[in-house]
Amino acid sequence: MLGLMQTRPLLISTLVDYAASQHGGREIVSRDPEGVIHRSTYAAVAERARRVGQALDMLDVRFGQPVATLAWNSFRHLELYYGVTGSGRILHTVNPRLFPEQIQYIINHAEDGCVFFDPVFVPLVEQLAPLLPHVRGWVALCEADSLPAVKVDGLLCYEDLIAAAEPAAEWPVFDENTASTLCYTSGTTGNPKGVLYSHRSTVLHAFAACAADSLAFSARDTILTVVPLFHANAWSIPFAAAMCGAKLVLPGPRLDPESIFLLLQQEGCTAAGGIPTVWLNFLAWLEPQRDTIDLSGLKLQRVFAGGTAPPRAMIEKFRDWLGVFLLHAWGMTETSPLVTAGSPLAKHADAAPETVVDMQVNQGRQVYGVELKLVDADGGKLPHDGRSVGELKVRGNWVISGYFKNEGGQVLDAQGWFSTGDAATIDPDGYVQLTDRLKDIIKSGGEWISSIEIENLTVSHPDVFEAAVIAIPHPVWQERPLLLVHAKEGREPTRAGILDFLSTRIARWWMPDDVLFVESLPHTATGKLLKTELRARYGNHVPAGG
Ligand code: ADP
Repeated sequence: MLGLMQTRPLLISTLVDYAASQHGGREIVSRDPEGVIHRSTYAAVAERARRVGQALDMLDVRFGQPVATLAWNSFRHLELYYGVTGSGRILHTVNPRLFPEQIQYIINHAEDGCVFFDPVFVPLVEQLAPLLPHVRGWVALCEADSLPAVKVDGLLCYEDLIAAAEPAAEWPVFDENTASTLCYTSGTTGNPKGVLYSHRSTVLHAFAACAADSLAFSARDTILTVVPLFHANAWSIPFAAAMCGAKLVLPGPRLDPESIFLLLQQEGCTAAGGIPTVWLNFLAWLEPQRDTIDLSGLKLQRVFAGGTAPPRAMIEKFRDWLGVFLLHAWGMTETSPLVTAGSPLAKHADAAPETVVDMQVNQGRQVYGVELKLVDADGGKLPHDGRSVGELKVRGNWVISGYFKNEGGQVLDAQGWFSTGDAATIDPDGYVQLTDRLKDIIKSGGEWISSIEIENLTVSHPDVFEAAVIAIPHPVWQERPLLLVHAKEGREPTRAGILDFLSTRIARWWMPDDVLFVESLPHTATGKLLKTELRARYGNHVPAGG
C-alpha cells in the first residue's frame, strides 16, 4: 500500500520562493571589484530572478538549454543561480581560471546559448567570442552606464535586460529530475567532463548541507561565500542559505586576506567557506598582527574547508587565535559535492583539545543521503579499521550517474557505485582519512606512503608556507617521497632542519629522500597542487648522495 502523502516536485524555485516569503528582508551583501558594497535582500533577488526568467524568454533561450556565466561571486550571479534554473534553463558556471582553450572547449561542448559575464572578463570574452558558434548573446553583468566596449555581436546590458522584463507571476512547475546546473571538472588530464545536476539532487543536497552535523546553516547565520559560485555549485551555499534564510556575503574577486577580514568583521559573518589556500594566506596575514589587530565585531564561529586537506596547524590556529571551529569536508564536483563532514561525536564533548583536532584533520563522516565503501584493488570490501587503505566508492541521491553527453562512458559499477579515484582509510567511527589521489600515491617497497600526511606535517613547521610531496624512482624501493617546500616570506628553513622536524613525527620509512626549496608551487584552477606538473619538473630528481 502506498502512503497518502503529497508529492511536490523538489524544484530550486521553491528554495528562492521560501527565502523571499519567509526571510524576504534578510540581506544579500556583495562587494564589487572596486570594493563598493551593494546591499540587496532575498525578496529583491527573487523578484529579479523572475525577471531573468522572462529575459531568457525574450532572448529565445529554450527550456533545458544551458546558459553560461563567467563571473565572480555577486548578487547578479546569485540572481542567475535562481532565475536560470527556476525558469527551467541550465546554469553552466564556467571557471574563468581555466585555460582559454578549456573554456572554449566546455562552452562549445555544452552548447551554451548565451554568456553572462563580469566586465572584468572583457579581454577573455573578446578572445573567445569568434570561437563559440553557439553563443548568440553576451550579457555584461553591470548597469548601462558602465557597459564596457566589447567587440562582440549581440552585446546586452544585464540591468537593461531585466528592467525590460516583467517578473513572471509564478515559476513554471516541471519534473524534479530536470537538469538544473552544469559544472565541468577541471580536467588536469584529458578534456574537462560535464557534471549535470538536477533540481531534485540539488534540493536534497541542500537539506544535507543545512543539517546540524554538516554545514549546520540556520536563519541566524551570515555566510561569507569565499568558494567561487563556479566551483561545484559553491558547495551548495546559495541553495542551502536560501533554504534556511541565512544572510549571504559575496566577496567578488578580491580574496586577499585583508579584504576577507574586513567583510568578516563588517558584516558579522558567523560562517565562512573556502579552500584551504585562501585560509593559509589569511592566517599568514593575521599572524604578525594578531595581538594588535582589533577583533571586536568578529562573530565568526565556523570555517568550512575542502577541496584539499586543511593542515593541522590551520585547524589549531583558527581555534587558538580566533576561537573558530574548522569543519573539514570532502567531496567532488561529481558528488554535488558534499559526502563527508568532520563534525564531532558525543564522545568528543569531553575529549582533550588535541583529540578533537585529531578528528578534524580527517575528512569527516559520511552525511545522510550518500553511502561510502572502501575497496581494495580487486574491488573487495576493506574493513573500517582506520588502517586499511583502499579506494573510496560513493553512491547516493546527489552522486553522478554519468557525465554530460556520456563522455567517459559508463561510470558506475553494477551496484551503482562511483569510483572516486581517492585513496583513504575509514575508522570505526566512520571518519574518512584521505591519503592520496590514487594516481599520486607513493608505492615504496610494496607499502603506500601518504603524500597528504607528509605535506600536512611539513606545513606545521613554523618556516613553511606550503609543501608538496611527489614520488621519485628508486632502484630498490621502486618509489620514494621527494618533499618540495615553499618557505614563508623572509624565512630560510634548511633541509636538515625540515628533516629533523619530520623525524619525530613520521615513521622512518616515510621520511622524504630529499627536500627541495621552491619559489612557489603550481596549482590547478580549483586550488589543488598540480602534481602532474611537479612530476614533470622534479620526477627524475636524484637525491643528494643518492
Ligand atoms: P576538480 O574539478 O579540481 O577535480 P573537485 O572539487 O571535484 O575539483 O575535486 C575533487 C577532489 O578533490 C577529490 O576527489 C579529492 O581528491 C580532492 N579533495 C576534495 N576535498 C578534499 C579534502 N578535504 N581533503 C583532501 N582532498 C580533497
